[in-house]
Amino acid sequence: MLRQFVETQVDPQALEHNRKELFNVPLFRKLGELGLLGITVPVEYGGSGMDATAAVIAHEELSSSDPAFCLSYLAHSMLFVNNLCQNGNHEQKMRFLPKACSGELIGGMGMSEPGAGTDVMGMATTAVPNKDGSSFKINGTKMWITNGTITGQDTGDAFLVYAKTGPGRGKNDITSFLVEKGMKGFSLGQKITDKCGMRASHTAELVFEDVVVPASNIVGTLGGATLCMHRNLEIERIVLAAMSLGIARRSIEVMAKYAEERKAFGKSIGEYGQIQEKIAESYAEYMAGRSYVYNVAAHLDISSYGNGLDADGVKLYCAPMAKRVADRAIQVLGGNGYMGEYQVERLWRDSKLLEIGGGTNEAHHKNMFRDISRNHKTLP
Ligand SMILES: Cc1cc2nc3c(=O)[nH]c(=O)nc-3n(C[C@H](O)[C@H](O)[C@H](O)COP(=O)(O)OP(=O)(O)OC[C@H]3O[C@@H](n4cnc5c(N)ncnc54)[C@H](O)[C@@H]3O)c2cc1C
Repeated sequence: MLRQFVETQVDPQALEHNRKELFNVPLFRKLGELGLLGITVPVEYGGSGMDATAAVIAHEELSSSDPAFCLSYLAHSMLFVNNLCQNGNHEQKMRFLPKACSGELIGGMGMSEPGAGTDVMGMATTAVPNKDGSSFKINGTKMWITNGTITGQDTGDAFLVYAKTGPGRGKNDITSFLVEKGMKGFSLGQKITDKCGMRASHTAELVFEDVVVPASNIVGTLGGATLCMHRNLEIERIVLAAMSLGIARRSIEVMAKYAEERKAFGKSIGEYGQIQEKIAESYAEYMAGRSYVYNVAAHLDISSYGNGLDADGVKLYCAPMAKRVADRAIQVLGGNGYMGEYQVERLWRDSKLLEIGGGTNEAHHKNMFRDISRNHKTLP
């Protein structure tokens, strides 16, 4: 179903939306009709009740055509929808999930700030309770928020926002809040334009000035968001790795086809060993990444926590792999590879984000070294 949808509906619009830096909202809502927006959400909340492998397939396929469109899908379906589904209460899920699963509402997640990305516990956004604790006042700024704006003029529809409710950097110092468009003091700082890649996905700065949020909008428990955040980061990293697979696969398809068609010195360029090497190495690396990602996804219980090592590992391996493979594809296509029409320069630009968003390569090194050191006697 996804392959057909991608071929007939996603492929034809990708280049134009990249050029115009526009998020394709009508196409996005069609993902709701296909049951993809709530792919991991139980049927009672409007979802499809599927598992991590299904989420991986959706991200791999969408990203094989339009990684930017897929990034918006990821921010909505994983960072907002799945996050709320795993960590919210029944009332919150009933309030938000059916609309989010249909695409009526488009969501996102605000963790990063102008002064704190990798160092997430260094966030400066605060949420201060009123006297009886029935509401909280949020102040701060969130940066680089995917789906932060849909129209470019105002904020997106709904967000899970992390804010400090404790004094320091402890694991009980952060709380997750549901913040909705129209709340007084909640505004769009700017739509961030001229990105290197992922240009058809909207990225925004969101500003919170004395935004009063009822305590009923706390997701999970007061001070309990560190666990929610880490649990959701695991599936986020796995689907970001799946996006890398889509980029790599399409790059291989494009370069293999071109190598057959393009002639130089009287022969197809595919007859030259240096071209063969690029395609063969790319395929082997893609399949190694694919095996790792699908293996980790198959063993992931989305509601659990503690798969961090391999969630970091798949992304650490696959993101640079996708960038390398897309780079080889440009090289195989020569001048044409450098042109938008042939797609691979866009895939290459988009792939760079996968080494940064959802955790930088260096953050994965740090986390993985910590986990490997703890468990070095019991590695698989
Ligand atoms: C297009 C786009 C979409 C995004 N969407 C979202 C979103 O929807 N929601 C959201 O919350 N965030 C989002 N982000 C933010 C993204 O998650 C952060 O950019 C990322 O976590 C890195 O943080 P930073 O940019 O502050 O870099 P920094 O953390 O400042 O890192 C700068 C450099 O220092 C390195 N570094 C930092 N600490 C260490 C260390 N201890 N050891 C070694 N090196 C270190 C980093 O690896 C990096 O190379 C998005 C970003 C982009 C570009």
